[in-house]
Amino acid sequence: MPWDVLSDEQRELRDLVRQLARERIAPRAAEIDISHEFPWDVVELFRENDIFGLFFTEEYGGLGTGTLLSLIAIEEVGKVCATSALILAVQELGSLGLKLAGSDEQKERYLPRLASGEWLPAYALTEPGSGSDSAAMRSEARREGDEYVLNGGKRFITNAGVAHVYVVFAKTDPDAGHAGISAFVVEADAPGFEVGRIEPKMGIKGSTTGEIFFDDCRIPADNLLGEEGEGFPIAMRVLDRSRPGIGAQGLGLAQGATDYALEYAKSRETMGKPIAQHQLIAGMLADMETKCEAARGLLYKCGQLIDEGADGADLSKISAMAKLYCTDVAMEVTTDAVQILGGYGYIQEYPVERMMRDAKITQIYEGTNQIQRLVIAREMVKEQRSSLLAGVS
Ligand SMILES: Cc1cc2nc3c(=O)[nH]c(=O)nc-3n(C[C@H](O)[C@H](O)[C@H](O)COP(=O)(O)OP(=O)(O)OC[C@H]3O[C@@H](n4cnc5c(N)ncnc54)[C@H](O)[C@@H]3O)c2cc1C
Repeated sequence: MPWDVLSDEQRELRDLVRQLARERIAPRAAEIDISHEFPWDVVELFRENDIFGLFFTEEYGGLGTGTLLSLIAIEEVGKVCATSALILAVQELGSLGLKLAGSDEQKERYLPRLASGEWLPAYALTEPGSGSDSAAMRSEARREGDEYVLNGGKRFITNAGVAHVYVVFAKTDPDAGHAGISAFVVEADAPGFEVGRIEPKMGIKGSTTGEIFFDDCRIPADNLLGEEGEGFPIAMRVLDRSRPGIGAQGLGLAQGATDYALEYAKSRETMGKPIAQHQLIAGMLADMETKCEAARGLLYKCGQLIDEGADGADLSKISAMAKLYCTDVAMEVTTDAVQILGGYGYIQEYPVERMMRDAKITQIYEGTNQIQRLVIAREMVKEQRSSLLAGVS
């Protein structure tokens, strides 16, 4: 880190995560990719070492060490295994609705279990007909006495089938557009809740991505998060705080690929010298390292601002920028790492092949990078700036 703003305690925790990642998770990464199995052993490792606690305050059994350190933890794990890094990112994504909008009772029931890792959460917004345009969702919830009855389905839900609790968005007033969406907590054993197909996919193969269905699914009325009609702003406030986690996953992939390509380039010889000494390869390595460092600067700034209480439009913009830049860098840099390894880069035995496949999703989920650009530009247009054009008629 160029400007180490971490306290001694935070540095120790970062070093612990780094060590666990290198010694315990890295040797599992290729197997996880090939088996497509959710890595419960990695969840257990995180539980035993209180790593889930990094995402929660002390009040609810967490470590209270803040957002910056939680991003660094995702980055460290992402350097060796993007599937395992996503487990951490989704512990935050699936918990944020409760942290931001939960009642005291809801927080007391769920957050300690999520902080210890006893329970895994999921965040269920996307549907077959609504991804970027989340307000086009069709799932509905109607109040019946002291229960809500949910009908509909969600698609592409990370942790489907392994989560114990789902934060679900559904329409309580289907004619009211954004204002008709509400947020609910649905436990995996709720009657009428079912997990459907788990999707085979290009990368992050150990992570489950699946359908979930609600068929007259009954949940207590107390499981409403916030008030009826507050679901859309809750969903967006969650994403403002969770997107940097995907940025951290992307940065981890980019730095992991850079480190691997560098070592390879120092030992692989062509035309009488290591390829790292051929200027075209040296230039690629320099660009890869520079992009990682620039991405890190933006991501850590975003983490610090969240720790200082950033909210609203300022947070939306910096969080979208961090997600956009780190994940575009992830795709560029992992592609370059494959190029540096030549034919070996394309072969499964070498980790950069997996890293390049894993990087692609970071540009797509939690809002595609086109959507991030829309968010950033929207905030730019709203800002009052002194301009060279001021006074020009
Ligand atoms: C592996 C995986 C895990 C996921 N995990 C979750 C999860 O845990 N929870 C969850 O709720 N969702 C999850 N998703 C869903 C993901 O967030 C959506 O797939 C994503 O937001 C894009 O939505 P879409 O697929 O419907 O694409 P669409 O919205 O149909 O977009 C298609 C293309 O059009 C572009 N586009 C759309 N609208 C605009 C516009 N206004 N301007 C410019 N370009 C536009 C998009 O950028 C994209 O390139 C996951 C998806 C995958 C693949």
